[in-house]
Amino acid sequence: MQTAGVVIIGGGIVGSSIAWHLMEAGCKNVLVIEREISQGKGSTGKSMGGVRAQFSTSVNIQMSLFSIPFYAAFDERLGHPAGYRPQGYLFAATKQSHLDYLHANFERQTTLGLKTARLLAAGEIKSMLPLLRSDDILGGSFCSTDGFVDPYSAMNGFMASAIEHGAMLWKKTDVTGISQDAKGISGVETSRGHVATRTVVNAAGAWAAQVAKFVGVDLPVEPMRRMLVPSEPFEDFPQSAPMIIDMSNGFHFRPEGRGFLMAWNDPEETTGYNTDFEPAFVEKVLTFAADRVPIFENLPVNPKKAWAGLYEMSPDHHAILGPVRAVPGLFLANGFSGHGVMHAPATGKILSDLILTGKTEIVADVEVLNFDRFDQGNLLHETAIL
Ligand SMILES: Cc1cc2nc3c(=O)[nH]c(=O)nc-3n(C[C@H](O)[C@H](O)[C@H](O)COP(=O)(O)OP(=O)(O)OC[C@H]3O[C@@H](n4cnc5c(N)ncnc54)[C@H](O)[C@@H]3O)c2cc1C
Repeated sequence: MQTAGVVIIGGGIVGSSIAWHLMEAGCKNVLVIEREISQGKGSTGKSMGGVRAQFSTSVNIQMSLFSIPFYAAFDERLGHPAGYRPQGYLFAATKQSHLDYLHANFERQTTLGLKTARLLAAGEIKSMLPLLRSDDILGGSFCSTDGFVDPYSAMNGFMASAIEHGAMLWKKTDVTGISQDAKGISGVETSRGHVATRTVVNAAGAWAAQVAKFVGVDLPVEPMRRMLVPSEPFEDFPQSAPMIIDMSNGFHFRPEGRGFLMAWNDPEETTGYNTDFEPAFVEKVLTFAADRVPIFENLPVNPKKAWAGLYEMSPDHHAILGPVRAVPGLFLANGFSGHGVMHAPATGKILSDLILTGKTEIVADVEVLNFDRFDQGNLLHETAIL
């Protein structure tokens, strides 16, 4: 019979990072199980790849303070490329309430040790990016170490390095059940047969609630469609630009390839597994784009190259991390609410710490992210969601 020290369900960037961190900490016999024929077919391969420390809650800021330097050192440390590009994130405020909000966030970020964020006056934004329409911009915030990674490459790097250190990856293998005995988790049922284990990590992304159901756990993680529109090559706006967030409507974009990748989170979107790209979305996004960057009126777009993927939403838009007390041996790494790529390094380290030692120092209080918070009514509130 097959046995494993730890079984990780899901081979996206989160499962891959957990596997790598466990191997790095000396854990033996780690098995990652992925139902698709190749990794990255879940949310990871659909991501925009943005990484930022400009959050509003301490725990999200701390997750980024670990993850972004990790990405900066990734290529050297793991011997595989993560494609980190520190081009920054610029939040452009058009209301006094936005400025107050950025100011409060900035205070918290700097108190926690972020040294590369700063508040900008309207004139600074204008001289930084003269092609933005800035008549209504009142100011903003910019963090130079925020930027982008290549999610697919980082996921593959984590997994390739974990395998080099002895981890196993089963692809094209569906986990169909989790078995328990008097001590807690006793194994997983898969399309390749039973695997005996005392420790299971749910890293199943937008499908995490289905996996939790195998042991009767009601996990509040819901899928929600997000759409991205890439442009064709366009040379009239600088490729050195940061991720730019227009706070008047939430439209954001960044350089990608020789063009730009554009996003807007439609507040009308409802939960569900629909990943069809809606052609009308192109027009909506291009209207926001031309409004903020007048020369984007001529931005060439091929709608056939646009795509949709799933965010994995939790009720308070924060990750759900750590053990489930009612099911000994079950650990969660779920509910990233659209931040799973940028927080994958911290998540891998936190889960590895909790599995191997029962504690972690990556964030000041990891308990705020545990599953019990929903029963206890201790929800967090992150407003800096993109
Ligand atoms: C359009 C879009 C833009 C985004 N932009 C950003 C961004 O800029 N920055 C950022 O940080 N994040 C972003 N995200 C979110 C990010 O992509 C996710 O948070 C992250 O990829 C989650 O990784 P994961 O490994 O948990 O999930 P996934 O990559 O979805 O991996 C989960 C895996 O589990 C497998 N699985 C599920 N059930 C089973 C089972 N029963 N048996 C075996 N395998 C199973 C699935 O096949 C899947 O491969 C974006 C997402 C989308 C859709």
